[in-house]
Amino acid sequence: MKDNLQDRLLYRFLRYAAITTQSKRESEIIPSTPGQWELARLLMKDIAELGVTDITIDEHAVVIGRLPARLPDDHAPVPTVGWVTHMDTVDVGMSPDIHPVIIRNYQGGDICQNKEKQIFISVQEHPELLKYIGQDIVVSDGTSVLGADDKAAVANIVTALEVLAENPDIPHGEIYVCFVPDEEIGLCGAKSMDMSRFPVEFAYTIDCCEQGELVYQTFNAGNAKLYITGVTAHPMSSKNNTVNPILIAHDFMNLLDRGETPEYTEKTEGYIWVTGIEGNQLNAVLDLNIRDHDREKYLAKKEYLKACTEMMKLRHPKAKLTLEMADDYSNIKDAITPENRKCVDYLFQAMKELNIVPLDIAMRGGTDGSYISTKGIPTPNYFTGAHNFHSRCEFMPMGAVENSCRTTLKLIELITNG
Ligand SMILES: [Zn+2]
Repeated sequence: MKDNLQDRLLYRFLRYAAITTQSKRESEIIPSTPGQWELARLLMKDIAELGVTDITIDEHAVVIGRLPARLPDDHAPVPTVGWVTHMDTVDVGMSPDIHPVIIRNYQGGDICQNKEKQIFISVQEHPELLKYIGQDIVVSDGTSVLGADDKAAVANIVTALEVLAENPDIPHGEIYVCFVPDEEIGLCGAKSMDMSRFPVEFAYTIDCCEQGELVYQTFNAGNAKLYITGVTAHPMSSKNNTVNPILIAHDFMNLLDRGETPEYTEKTEGYIWVTGIEGNQLNAVLDLNIRDHDREKYLAKKEYLKACTEMMKLRHPKAKLTLEMADDYSNIKDAITPENRKCVDYLFQAMKELNIVPLDIAMRGGTDGSYISTKGIPTPNYFTGAHNFHSRCEFMPMGAVENSCRTTLKLIELITNG
């Protein structure tokens, strides 16, 4: 049954990749694109055929279903667990439509994605390819991302359900599956989830890259907007009168630590990133991202922005300054307690039993799980097996994708056995 796991995963992946689900940041609605409705409805049908019940879809195309427990009468209680994967693919300026190309039994060398357009993934730029000699590798045709982020994960969880459906001898507790839209444009799907429909003790996302990657440390993340209104006047009467909001924005930025920016930080170092500035004679708006793995330091950065705003008010009393800040998501680690730590322990244990070397990464970003964890459901993240997310060079070695699915099945086994 499991011998053809790769074929099943590939079939599922191609089925879901065929539906265009690129999300659009400029959209006002969730989901941001109609293709995500189409995929959501297909997934509802697919999981219904695999024994999932109580399948619901809400006005944002968030699909949630429940696989009832299948346990011997005398079995100890098993925690209810969930999986969350996202249906959208990222917009990085390439085609929204995805045409996967399958390279059978890769033997090294550059991979030709598109003969007509002469697009390749070169070994020189991507020597990681050489780890997968002998595997089937899936790539895009070079005009788009592949969208293994996160359709490899969607295929993973549906295939795992298929394995459970075909093997009634495998016991398991209650399992919830959830498919969300619009992860790539700010975790919008997860943020719109009605958590009462997802009553799990803990959950997993499958939304990082290389085999072994395991993430339960993410940023604390927030954003800030500074609105500045100055005073305009004709230059002939400007002296001691005009207050230039653009120069105030400039002064404000000069108060920020130039060593604490994305380009000067790594690992668990935080930053404040000026992501936008717009201005004219009367108004200016600054956009900032605030990031830190350490919660105290994250809060201190927010306080510092407030202090900078107050200082600017003192220095420019005729200007009007308003700082708005909002939290986006939190470090998953902060939701991990000694009582619920087992969701992370199971991941390490699953990889150990499958001889997969864990790559414990402090992610400089966030996942749907970073948001869901703030709702009291610790939700670590593990590998899809694919490489180079958000790039035309995204590729999916099927052996690694299979190992990701085996990790899912192993987690179900370990959680069942306690
Ligand atoms: Zn993703």
